[in-house]
Amino acid sequence: MILDGMSGRVEKNYPLHKLSTWRIGGPAETVYWPETIEDLLKVWQRAQAREIPVRLIGRGSNVLFPDEGLSGITLVSTSLRGISWGDHSVRVEAGYTLARLAQEAGELGWSGLEFARGIPGSIGGAIMMNAGAHGGEISSCVLSVSTLWADGSIKKLKRDEFEFAYRFCSLRGHAWVLEAHLKFKAGEREQILQDMREYLTKRTANQPLELPNAGSVFRNPPGHSAGRLIEAAGWKGRSIGGAKVSEKHANFIVNTGLATSSDVLALIEAIKTDIQLKYDISLQTEIESILTARVNRRRDV
Ligand SMILES: Cc1cc2nc3c(=O)[nH]c(=O)nc-3n(C[C@H](O)[C@H](O)[C@H](O)COP(=O)(O)OP(=O)(O)OC[C@H]3O[C@@H](n4cnc5c(N)ncnc54)[C@H](O)[C@@H]3O)c2cc1C
Repeated sequence: MILDGMSGRVEKNYPLHKLSTWRIGGPAETVYWPETIEDLLKVWQRAQAREIPVRLIGRGSNVLFPDEGLSGITLVSTSLRGISWGDHSVRVEAGYTLARLAQEAGELGWSGLEFARGIPGSIGGAIMMNAGAHGGEISSCVLSVSTLWADGSIKKLKRDEFEFAYRFCSLRGHAWVLEAHLKFKAGEREQILQDMREYLTKRTANQPLELPNAGSVFRNPPGHSAGRLIEAAGWKGRSIGGAKVSEKHANFIVNTGLATSSDVLALIEAIKTDIQLKYDISLQTEIESILTARVNRRRDV
């Protein structure tokens, strides 16, 4: 068995909706929370050798899981929380909580991650999405990342050896982030903490945090706000099944209780078609849709 001898939690036939802030998704054949990077690598190698599908998620705040569930192994990085502080810098494993790191750096008077207070992702997920808000992005703090590639190689890449753009990282789909080395600027502790409090207040006022969601669904097209376009097209409050365009923020789709992945995808497609027709603008999704449907294979995970 692939997970024999591994440290950390293992669950079989686990509801994926528990791993997603959208609270959507069918059963995962196997879910594993590795406690060390060595264990993550071992499982990855064993899965490759037996051709078992394997994927890595963080805090599930930017993913839409399929209703049919997922076969193979779903790795969750959230127990990989090793951290080592340097001088205005930190080495941190992929599963560490972004918002917590932002708060801890702020307490030290270190500036750079203020924007991240209130973003419910992991460091690995934040790097893959180049998470950002309020004019800041995680890319501006990255010095280097340790990565695992499809051929099994582990590479430490400096910031100039891969690319970031708006909600884009060139590693996405090619490598897993195991650990990151981040830098900060010297700042004014009280000012940093004050900025973070204000950002949190704005989020509570403008975002439908009372219902399950995955943040902004669409990227802002160049020169436009996706939320304003969707609102102007009359989508606020409209729903398909249990998925509804938030009344508070038109770029958020909320789960009103029993939303399925199909409901969300149907709503996304309807909005995209309408915006294309009305404004000749092609909306692109920001969320990641993990749609490797359940396949039945004869092998023992
Ligand atoms: C209420 C709310 C507000 C939000 N606000 C913002 C915001 O202001 N700005 C913003 O940018 N985002 C925002 N988001 C979206 C989300 O929180 C970020 O994109 C976050 O960085 C995703 O991290 P995660 O750990 O949840 O990633 P997940 O959702 O777990 O994964 C996202 C993708 O990254 C991949 N991935 C995860 N970890 C790794 C890894 N270690 N190595 C390789 N691939 C990996 C996954 O396979 C998946 O494809 C918001 C979400 C919510 C629910």
